[in-house]
Amino acid sequence: MSLHHLSTPRLTIDRRRAEFADREFEDRFIRHFLPERNAQLKASFLFSAGFYVVFGLTDIATLGPTVTAWTMVALRVLVALAALCACAAIARHPDSAAVSIRATNTVLAVGLGVFPVLCWYQPAAMSWNLMSLALILMAVYVIFPNRFIYAVAIGVVTSAVFAAMLLIQGLLRMDDVVALVLMLVLGNALGYIAARRFNLAQREQFRSTMLLQELADRDPLTGCHNRRVLQRGLLDAELTRTRRYGSALSVILCDIDHFKQINDTYGHAAGDQVLSEFAGLLQSMVREAVDTVIRYGGEEFLIVLPETELAGAHALAERIRVAFANAATAAGDGSFISATASFGVAAVPAQHPWPPSNFEALVGAADDQLYVVKRGGRNGVRGTVVTAAPELRSGT
Ligand code: GH3
Ligand code: MG
Ligand code: MG
Repeated sequence: MSLHHLSTPRLTIDRRRAEFADREFEDRFIRHFLPERNAQLKASFLFSAGFYVVFGLTDIATLGPTVTAWTMVALRVLVALAALCACAAIARHPDSAAVSIRATNTVLAVGLGVFPVLCWYQPAAMSWNLMSLALILMAVYVIFPNRFIYAVAIGVVTSAVFAAMLLIQGLLRMDDVVALVLMLVLGNALGYIAARRFNLAQREQFRSTMLLQELADRDPLTGCHNRRVLQRGLLDAELTRTRRYGSALSVILCDIDHFKQINDTYGHAAGDQVLSEFAGLLQSMVREAVDTVIRYGGEEFLIVLPETELAGAHALAERIRVAFANAATAAGDGSFISATASFGVAAVPAQHPWPPSNFEALVGAADDQLYVVKRGGRNGVRGTVVTAAPELRSGT
C-alpha cells in the first residue's frame, strides 16, 4: 500500500459512527485487532455468563423456590450456554471478524431478550432490575468489543422495551418511573461516551501506527519502498507462497548507467531529479498493489513481480529500458539529461522443484545478470531462471 493509498480520504474517521470512513481500511483495522478483540470477548462472555447465572439467586429470593423462579434460573443458564457456544465459535474461527461480530450480537440479543421476561414476572423487584439494566447496558457499550453503531442500537432498543414495559405494567408511581427512565438514559449516555471515545482513540492510534510504518518503509527521495521491507520479510513471504502454491516469482534488479558521471556533470541535485524520475517510471510501469519497487541502493532498484515468469519479467524490463532511454530529465539550467539503465532479471518458474530458500539467492542471481550487462556495455537486459537451490547449483 503506497503513501498515496494512505492519504487523507482513506484515513478519515467517520466520528459519528466511530469507524474509518473507508470500508476496506476499517476491515483492515478490525483484522489487525481481531486476536485481541476475541480474547476480550471470551473474557466478557464468561464474566457476564457467570453473573447472569449467579443473579438467579435474586429470582429465588424474590419469588421463593417456585416453578416460575426455577424456570427463570433455567433461562439464565440458557443465556450462559449461548455465551459458551459463542466462545466456542470464536475459538473455532479465530480469523473471522464476521463470526466474532455475529457471536457478540447473538449473545447480547439472547441475554437482553431474556432479561425483560425475567423482569416481567418480578414486578416487585422492578426498580432493582432496572438499575441492574442500566449497569448491564454500560457493560454492553464498554466491555463487549462491537461496532459502535450496533452497541448504540442494542442499548436504545433494550431501553425502549423496558420503558414500554414500565408503562404497560403501570405498577410504579410516576416519579419512580421518571427516575428509572432517567437511570436508563444515564446508563446509555455514559456507555455511549465511553465506547465512542475508546473506538475513536483505538482508530487514531492505528492510523498513526500505519502512517509511521509507511514512512519508515519509504525512501523520501523517490517514494519507493526501502530495504526495510526486505528485512521485514516481503520477499521471503513471496518465496514462501511460491514454495507452497507453486506460483512463479521474478525480480528485476536495475541500475542507472554512469550515474556518477551525471552527478559530476550536472550536479547532485540534477542527479536526484534523474533518480526520482527513474523511480516514477518504474512505479508507473508495474502493476499497482501487486508488484513492489524497492530502492535497493543509491541508484539501484529492485522490482518484485509475484506470479510472473521470466519471459514476462524480461519483457517488462525491456519496456522500462526503452522508455528510460527515450526520456530526458530537465536539469535546472534548461538543459536535458539523457540516461540509460541496465537490468538483471531472475525468475523462479511456476511449479519449480527447488525454489530458493531465501531472497538473497534470488537477488544474487539477478545481480549476476546485471553485472554481465554492465560488462557487455550497459543499456541492456539479461535474465535467468533460478535453476536449483544455491547449494545444488554451486560447483556446476
Ligand atoms: P555503472 O554504470 O557501472 O553503474 O556506473 P555508475 O557511475 O552508475 O555507478 P557507481 O556505483 O560508480 O556510482 C553510483 C553513484 O550514485 C555514486 C553516488 O554518489 C551516486 N548516488 C548514490 N545515491 C545518490 C543519491 O541519492 N543522489 C545522487 N544525486 N546521487 C547518488
Ligand atoms: Mg550505476
Ligand atoms: Mg550502482
